Amino acid sequence: MKVHILLGPPGSGKGTQAQRLVEKFKLNHLSTGDILRDAVSKGTEIGLRAKAIMASGKLVDDDTVNGLVFARLRQGFEGDVLFDGYPRTLQQAEALGEFLSTQMIELGHVLSVAVPDGVLEARVVGRRVCSNCGAIYHVETKPPKQDGICDLCGSPLKHRSDDTAEAFRSRMAEFNATFQPLLGFYERKPNFRSVDGNLAPEQVFESLVKLFAECA
Ligand SMILES: [Zn+2]
Repeated sequence: MKVHILLGPPGSGKGTQAQRLVEKFKLNHLSTGDILRDAVSKGTEIGLRAKAIMASGKLVDDDTVNGLVFARLRQGFEGDVLFDGYPRTLQQAEALGEFLSTQMIELGHVLSVAVPDGVLEARVVGRRVCSNCGAIYHVETKPPKQDGICDLCGSPLKHRSDDTAEAFRSRMAEFNATFQPLLGFYERKPNFRSVDGNLAPEQVFESLVKLFAECA
């Protein structure tokens, strides 16, 4: 069993790419959300702790997230594991590194879907959503046939307040404060590779497959 990691900012298409890699290479897809739900439903000690933290409206801290992930890894897997959304912080990455070496588990590929902030911003700011059916458009890359009107149901399209440049920049600054140190940590690893996420999803997938097919 090897552990592979896929990194990328929100809006990079990382989630979809992870899903496709999992299918193509028959991997075990591990998201912290799934591990959390599983531990909570099984009522394990750490699961109950996480549940209490979430019930109080707080974010589950690094040590608890690590504990959940390590408990799941200790149970073992048939085949390799692909992490999606973990590690999320430098602390989690360092703790994972130590855990893997004590358990003699090999770190496989660390792949990063890199998209410049300006490109992500253009994707978000141009987004329009149907006020009725929720269909998603983009003023440049996927415009409706009639300006401001949904092709599917004829209702007006809206520009969500989350999709303004200002809201995007504030989210991105918060994300990068955590993500950049994490990325810096993995960039120094010999098994780190970055793919150009500013391409069509199919091309991004091809690049990832090519890297994945190489030995980690
Ligand atoms: Zn619609």
